[in-house]
Amino acid sequence: MSLDADVVVIGAGPAGCAAAIRLVAAGYNVIALERKDREDGEDITSGEVLVVPTQNECAQLGVNFEGDWVLDRITGFRNVYPDLSWTYHPIPTPTCPAQVDRGGFNAALRRRLVEVGGRLIWNARVTDLEFRGDAAIAITAGRSRHSARMLIDAGGRYAPSLRALNLKSEDPEFSQIGVAVFFNSFDGTPLNTWDRHLYGMRGAMISGSRIKPGLYRYILEADLAEKQTDRLGAIEFYESVARNHDRWLYERVMREPRVGRQWSMAPLGYRVSAVARDRLLLVGDAAGYLSPITGQGNEFALRTGRLAAIAADNALRSGDLSASAFASYIEGRRYEVERQVDYVRAQLRILRDRAALLRASRDDEYRASVFGPYGIPATERGSLA
Ligand SMILES: Cc1cc2nc3c(=O)[nH]c(=O)nc-3n(C[C@H](O)[C@H](O)[C@H](O)COP(=O)(O)OP(=O)(O)OC[C@H]3O[C@@H](n4cnc5c(N)ncnc54)[C@H](O)[C@@H]3O)c2cc1C
Repeated sequence: MSLDADVVVIGAGPAGCAAAIRLVAAGYNVIALERKDREDGEDITSGEVLVVPTQNECAQLGVNFEGDWVLDRITGFRNVYPDLSWTYHPIPTPTCPAQVDRGGFNAALRRRLVEVGGRLIWNARVTDLEFRGDAAIAITAGRSRHSARMLIDAGGRYAPSLRALNLKSEDPEFSQIGVAVFFNSFDGTPLNTWDRHLYGMRGAMISGSRIKPGLYRYILEADLAEKQTDRLGAIEFYESVARNHDRWLYERVMREPRVGRQWSMAPLGYRVSAVARDRLLLVGDAAGYLSPITGQGNEFALRTGRLAAIAADNALRSGDLSASAFASYIEGRRYEVERQVDYVRAQLRILRDRAALLRASRDDEYRASVFGPYGIPATERGSLA
């Protein structure tokens, strides 16, 4: 059978681009299928923060971290504790996390893919997969068929192989809800600062910052079970957490002008039972998701895209495209995931422990031991009470 490509990548988001750019650069014929029919344009609905390792992964791909899609930098964070005392922590590196227009970030990655010679097909929503002895085929909603020696599914949390192969399940440990509200202004939010309000109840945290002049966002993350117990709508739940735990934030949430589209998502975390099958790898969110607590979703997408490209290169060279030939991908990803699981678990423990948070507000050594990167020495402290 004559094939259309060596590799078909499903989804041209961060994970798909990271894998595709590397495979094209290594000399493979790659097709990336993207369900959207064009670039999104500006998209700040999630107000995503890209941490320094994400920026480093971009540099490895030849994507410069500059342009009008790079918005406010974050040069420090403020931890606000249950008694409304706070500590401020400057980030001690020359480079800092940046907030991005997500549409512009995706577009920069896709531009790079086309620049290195990758074929990007828009309006190609993959609905079915077919596996044969000598090929894998991605079939789109328009019934076009794209055959290759193997597929990389980078279609995000609703990736087609998750449904087709029934690979996705709930992850009760990381079952949280996210609710984002956007504002025109937010009196008292320090500039270039990630402002984390920690309550020690219900796994709840409301955090945010200015994204760019005239646009602020505060996101609630909380245990989904708590919202279900309260039987409130997402925004009512958001407001009730602020009202019950944080007078400073609640006053502003109710007073400041809201803009844009508020959104909620639940459950945020889920598990995927297998990330490698014969002639198939799953990368990025398609391979599972824990929590946005670490701000590392894109880093993880880019890293797993890199690991998948290396494993695919080895398998394509050897001619063995069975699941067992992708062992290096499974191993590399497991190492990454385990580290992240440990970290998220520790952070969630703290978010549910009011006494620990109150101790962290006063005890620098203790804070450093429980907060990881958020525990770096404080240079200022005060109170919002
Ligand atoms: C509330 C929330 C806040 C977050 N905040 C951050 C943050 O601050 N920092 C951070 O780094 N990460 C954050 N993340 C995580 C981050 O958004 C994701 O981890 C990241 O986008 C995953 O990249 P991906 O390439 O795997 O998937 P996606 O970005 O979802 O890309 C998937 C691509 O595949 C396409 N596609 C989907 N289905 C198909 C199909 N059937 N056929 C063809 N194409 C398809 C899509 O159109 C898209 O282009 C957050 C996530 C949530 C939920």
